[in-house]
Amino acid sequence: MAKEIWVLAEHQEGKVKGITFELLSGSIEFSKQTGQKVAAILLGSGLEEATKSLIPFADKIYLLENPLLSPYTSDAYESALLPLLKEHEPSIFLGGATSTGKDLFPRLAMHLETGYAPDCTELSVNEEGRLTIKRPLFGGKVFAEMVFSEARPQMATVRNHTFLIRENPGRSAEVLPIPTRLDPSSLKKRVIHLEKSPGARLDITEADIVVAAGRGIKGPENFKLIEDLAEVLNASVGTTRAVVDEGWRDLKDQIGKSGKNISARLYMAFGISGAIHHILGIGTCKTIVAVDTDPNALIFNYADYGIVGDLFKIVPALTEELKRVLAS
Ligand SMILES: Cc1cc2nc3c(=O)[nH]c(=O)nc-3n(C[C@H](O)[C@H](O)[C@H](O)COP(=O)(O)OP(=O)(O)OC[C@H]3O[C@@H](n4cnc5c(N)ncnc54)[C@H](O)[C@@H]3O)c2cc1C
Repeated sequence: MAKEIWVLAEHQEGKVKGITFELLSGSIEFSKQTGQKVAAILLGSGLEEATKSLIPFADKIYLLENPLLSPYTSDAYESALLPLLKEHEPSIFLGGATSTGKDLFPRLAMHLETGYAPDCTELSVNEEGRLTIKRPLFGGKVFAEMVFSEARPQMATVRNHTFLIRENPGRSAEVLPIPTRLDPSSLKKRVIHLEKSPGARLDITEADIVVAAGRGIKGPENFKLIEDLAEVLNASVGTTRAVVDEGWRDLKDQIGKSGKNISARLYMAFGISGAIHHILGIGTCKTIVAVDTDPNALIFNYADYGIVGDLFKIVPALTEELKRVLAS
């Protein structure tokens, strides 16, 4: 059987996530080099819209439909995917470095007794079809480059924005429904209820744009300024540990060594001094903009654009100007 490049298709409320289209776009490049087919692996129930959106991005869609696969649990996904992986033996299996990817991939790799590279920020395939990856180690202090020695399969989870989504992917997938029988009594986990926090935005690890404020914001009530800017930019809101420790924001918004690593296309930092613990979380952001009253703030060493100034003047002015520009 010709080996294939597989991508786990993640979806939420029926819509496929951006990271999946990024990974499929990258896989299309690899397939041009290796001649292998690209397959999206889609699990869940009520997947019509998701399937349709994936068709131009893959040669095949393996469709595993079962109510027990929605919402995600590692148990059910593992039980459904392991037989498929053993039968088809793809050469590469990629997933997002998301909570699902990071939960599922090491489990699958353990059962398949194969290697797994988490949290990759660069990927390529060499002449022999071996996957070469780059990933941060020791909280982003160094990057390791690794080459898989065997393909059984080569498994990796990949950070957002590692690949650009192709505008014209040019594929037309054949949809292959896979009968998926799961015994509910063999599943140890069951999701009983999902609760969405009010006004929830995309998680900071998945957002294209993240705007963040540190202790310079002076109090939780002033985050309204940052929320307004985020609204205009369709961005997510992040913060520093100092702010979380003050109890002004939730831990889920914390960027950095003891928080989350983000890979936004644009990261805007307001009143954030740029301590190394924070910087470790933004190392793979594409463009960094910083605003701080202290011209010697460390954040300016990492910023592509910096403004020495008062965030209380700059943020509202920026919000108004962006509103005007984006409206026109
Ligand atoms: C083990 C360990 C793990 C850690 N993990 C993390 C982590 O994951 N994430 C993290 O962020 N930190 C982490 N920290 C804490 C980190 O070292 C810093 O203390 C923290 O990042 C500082 O947060 P801050 O920039 O909001 O605050 P500050 O360092 O107090 O900086 C506030 C900034 O706001 C500026 N400012 C003040 N007023 C204004 C204004 N009106 N307009 C514009 N600028 C203004 C000031 O000039 C200053 O630069 C960790 C620390 C340790 C020891």
